[in-house]
Amino acid sequence: KTSIMWFRRDLRLTDNQALQAAIQNSDQVILIFIIDPQQVQNDASVNQSAFFASVLHFKESLAKDNLTLLIQTGSVIDIVTEIKAKVPSVGDIYLNFDERGYGRKRDQQTIRYLSQKLGIVAHPFLDFTLTSASAIKKQDGSAYQIFTPYYKKWLTSKKDQPLPALASIEISHKQLAEPFTDHLDDLKKLINQNHSYAYQDSLGEQQAANTLADFVSHKLVYYDQNRDFPALDGTSHLSRYLRTGEISIRTVYDAVSRKPASLGKETFIKELCWRDFYNMIYTIYPDQKNQAVNTKFQNIPWINDEAQFEAWKNGTTGFPIIDAAMQQLNQTGWLHNRLRMIVASFLTKDLLINWTWGEQYFQEKLVDYDPASNIGGWQWAASTGTDSVPYFRIFNPFTQAEKFDPDAQFIKQYIPALAALPADKIHHIDRLSDADQQKYQVILGKDYPKPIVDHALARKRAIASYKNLNA
Ligand code: FAD
Repeated sequence: KTSIMWFRRDLRLTDNQALQAAIQNSDQVILIFIIDPQQVQNDASVNQSAFFASVLHFKESLAKDNLTLLIQTGSVIDIVTEIKAKVPSVGDIYLNFDERGYGRKRDQQTIRYLSQKLGIVAHPFLDFTLTSASAIKKQDGSAYQIFTPYYKKWLTSKKDQPLPALASIEISHKQLAEPFTDHLDDLKKLINQNHSYAYQDSLGEQQAANTLADFVSHKLVYYDQNRDFPALDGTSHLSRYLRTGEISIRTVYDAVSRKPASLGKETFIKELCWRDFYNMIYTIYPDQKNQAVNTKFQNIPWINDEAQFEAWKNGTTGFPIIDAAMQQLNQTGWLHNRLRMIVASFLTKDLLINWTWGEQYFQEKLVDYDPASNIGGWQWAASTGTDSVPYFRIFNPFTQAEKFDPDAQFIKQYIPALAALPADKIHHIDRLSDADQQKYQVILGKDYPKPIVDHALARKRAIASYKNLNA
């Protein structure tokens, strides 16, 4: 019995549902990754480059174990048809299916076609989330819109049904690589070397496992206390591995569940639930990438000032916490969660720029880009989602900085021009006197930009814009 294991965003051998089943149920397995031209953008973004760098790394690490990950370009159906013509014994295809968006439609069509036209049986597995998007429903069978009741039910379901990581499996004796030619060059073309500083040292299953082990041993217990302070770096940094599947969500959940009870552990597990929640919301609102889920807020009178958008993207707004955050995003491809919230609030409320612009920019820049979590996060910040921050609770960027970066350590790391200024001056930079500008050699408008908006006025303007829609 010959099977195809179709890898997508599950780039690992360990704790991989579909791979495990493929190995167990087949005599020979063809390991394949397909570059789908419909999903590839021409302007290799950081997001795209990072993903394909992980694919290449996966291929190279398999090669060290004498395993071949076949790289092909084209439509899945055409490629599987070709494989079947060369290897008629292929009767099954294993995959970890996509519950949402383009991937969901592609998977459904592919499964139907392969079964009807080629007699190939598809075996789809749920692997990307802890809970299927359709698993947790209200008593009347409808979907939850609000996180907290969803979370309570989610927790109960976890107790009934623990999800331990799968044991390792031996695959080398089963793989079939011939007689196919590889399209490795197509893959390499998708990796923009200019971006590589952002992620080149941290690819692969082993790095992902080390990151998890380090987090669970040293940071988990303090997670609840440290997670909001960018300078403390108290979060796991697992998002990029979860996005590529270099680590399994079950492995993460399992490692954390085994630790003694603590507030850190409880808070972390709650974050994993947000991931499932947004996955679920994305499946019930597939159009939310371009549209406010909350119909009340579909016609916000955005100002969409292009120059202010550029200042936001480049980190030249004159608000130190915003600018430092955007530097972190631009330089590393990752952004601390507290800062994602602050910069998203600033863009949508202080600048009244459409949240979809910010969502799109994050899509280009984030190595952990995930549409469900990104759109969910942006709609939360813009107050347009199912369970969002109320529109009148607007983050003050100065107060947020004072609270979550009290010594301005994070700000100074990313904005060297402010290194000489004491933290309390940075947190009130809009009031920096001429004498202080001279004393610390930070001339506003020259060494560091003046704030591009007056926060107090911008806040009032945003509230009025949102409130009018409710009138
Ligand atoms: P940790 O704090 O260690 O959390 C562990 C894991 O829990 C994360 O890796 C992630 O998988 C999950 N998680 C944590 N917080 C959230 C959350 N609020 N929503 C969903 N899942 C969460 N996360 C992405 O993975 N991809 C995105 O594209 C993305 N875009 C975002 C955009 C905005 C505007 C906001 C406010 C949040 C976004 N998030 C996104 C959620 C969150 O910021 C990141 O998951 C987190 O910062 C990743 O760092 P970490 O792995 O160290 O997180």
